[in-house]
Amino acid sequence: MVLERTFSIIKPDATRRNLTGKIIAKFEEGGLRVVASKRIHMTRKQAEGFYAVHKDRPFFGELVDFMISGPVVVQVLEGQNAIARNREIMGATDPKKAAPGSIRAEFAESIGENSVHGSDAPETAKDEIAFFFAGSDIVG
Ligand code: GDP
Repeated sequence: MVLERTFSIIKPDATRRNLTGKIIAKFEEGGLRVVASKRIHMTRKQAEGFYAVHKDRPFFGELVDFMISGPVVVQVLEGQNAIARNREIMGATDPKKAAPGSIRAEFAESIGENSVHGSDAPETAKDEIAFFFAGSDIVG
């Protein structure tokens, strides 16, 4: 077991439906602690930069348009094995395949508008946290 930090986004489909509290409750009930949080409206440039790894995928334009369609809540979550734990709490990318009780099973609207983002590895977690937060913004 290792104490880790991961990066999370509550996406525009969830902020639009006023689900931020219900989603944060899932993280907290799942053993993760919110150690940094802010509500922002991403610019196109930020969204394209954040998702640059997906730039050659067919849904890239759709994904960027969606991520700038409304406010998001960016957060740093801390806990034992936080990266993997958060992915469990989120559920599979496609809500139809997400485990019962997971955020995406309960709240996601589609494979694209799927309520949350979570880092998938230690290196991406580090880079994604640094994309939105200074070290002094994070209070564990
Ligand atoms: P994640 O790590 O579970 O978020 O999944 P991926 O890294 O594979 O994809 C990143 C994000 O791109 C997903 O969370 C979705 O918002 C979006 N996405 C993935 N696959 C599709 C797709 O087939 N269509 C659309 N429109 N968006 C997708």
